[in-house]
Amino acid sequence: MDRADLIVLGYLVAAVFFILGLKGLARPRTARRGNLLGASGMLLAVLVTLIDQAIVSYWVLAAGLAVGAGIGTVLAVRVQMTSMPELVALFNGFGGAASVLVAGASFHEFVDLDLVDDQVSTAAAVTALIGAVTFTGSVIAFFKLKESLKWSGFGGIRVVNGALALTSLALGAMVIIDPSNTTWLWALVAVGAVLGLLAVVPIGGADMPVVIAILNSLSGLAASATGFVLDNTLLIIAGSLVGASGLILTQIMCVAMNRSAIAVIFSDAPSSSAGSIDADDVYAGRVTSSSPDEVAMILDTASRVVIVPGYGLAVAQAQHVVRELTNVLEKRGVEVVFGIHPVAGRMPGHMNVLLAEAEVDYELLLEMDVVNPTFAQTDVVIVIGANDVVNPLAETDPESPIAGMPILNVDHARTVVVIKRSLSPGFAGIPNPLFAADNALMLFGDGKQAVSDITKALAEV
Ligand code: NDP
Repeated sequence: MDRADLIVLGYLVAAVFFILGLKGLARPRTARRGNLLGASGMLLAVLVTLIDQAIVSYWVLAAGLAVGAGIGTVLAVRVQMTSMPELVALFNGFGGAASVLVAGASFHEFVDLDLVDDQVSTAAAVTALIGAVTFTGSVIAFFKLKESLKWSGFGGIRVVNGALALTSLALGAMVIIDPSNTTWLWALVAVGAVLGLLAVVPIGGADMPVVIAILNSLSGLAASATGFVLDNTLLIIAGSLVGASGLILTQIMCVAMNRSAIAVIFSDAPSSSAGSIDADDVYAGRVTSSSPDEVAMILDTASRVVIVPGYGLAVAQAQHVVRELTNVLEKRGVEVVFGIHPVAGRMPGHMNVLLAEAEVDYELLLEMDVVNPTFAQTDVVIVIGANDVVNPLAETDPESPIAGMPILNVDHARTVVVIKRSLSPGFAGIPNPLFAADNALMLFGDGKQAVSDITKALAEV
């Protein structure tokens, strides 16, 4: 077996590790093992690539590794857990940008050596477009998740995006027809970059999770297309796996959110408008505040409690105290389950990750379809830092940015306790009539503090 055979074999084994890793990640119980398998596959892939003679200079590689590892370490140490979704969005974007740069550099090399064939030029064009769209789209998603970008575009943005999409197709065709002129490729990158920016800018509210899943998928497709430029089997397989799993996630998100991916991408009306309802009209004189002691007394008589976590749980880092409250209630004979909305938090699976970190039994986490019919038989729902995912305006206000999004119908329970710091809106920026409902009690305060106070008060009733 010569070196070339060894490299192919190494890549094959790494690909098998990736596939087994993904399989493991599909279930919480096997997720750790899946993660380890995936990481081992990546280590093997890197080692095999290092012994590949195609490496031009090990010094340049080492320098790149040092810079990347340095930046990665600083980010990992500094980043707050609540900023993780933004970081993941940036990682998607960097994946797209890296694909464009690697494929672009190789394309130039092939052109210089007069070795460009249809596979290389087609793959380079696909990488240029998808990679550029992914990069700028992800940067916009980053600022939207940070809630520092409120601009939602301009009227007719769909027409402009349609024109940009047609232009990029024409430029892609030119890359294939006239590959010796590399300007076509970089013009395609530029148009793709503007398209990515303008496609994500109008998206907000309930559509944001779908866009995050789409960008994740696109970053994989860009890597896979780069694999065709470099003729690297592993990159093709790994990119396809990311692309396919991102597509599956997109499909799951679309079904859960009652959205279609096409409608999300080509939406015209900026969906981050504030809707047609004014906060003062919703809340004035109708909000009832409560205290930890009162909530403890209500819980004392409850036999079924549903806890609904949201983004505020992540901000407050309240997952451990929530587990303690769950234990205390269970010891008192109360049935406790968690109602998990598919887009609660700021990234797919956000709540599952947080609650798994606090070792909340996975069996207690009920998906929206399962938990919704049970609210009518529930004594108390405790909403912790969730807002949009329990907002009835999704069903009643067609103007709202979350219109049509299925919600957790917590108001069907006997009593709803909402823990948050104020009446401030959530990600979608709209008021929530739940907070003024007759059976709702607001417990104002930080999520972690409020839950600890309830647990303490429970010990005294
Ligand atoms: P929301 O963003 O609707 O609301 C979060 C609430 O948490 C706020 O109203 C805030 O109120 C409260 N909060 C913040 N900090 C604390 C704290 N320390 N203690 C207690 N409460 C706190 O969250 P949801 O989870 O309900 O909804 C998710 C939203 O994010 C949806 O609109 C979804 O579309 C969007 N999104 C989701 C993504 C995903 O993949 N999951 C991706 C991108 C966007 P206050 O300030 O008064 O405390």
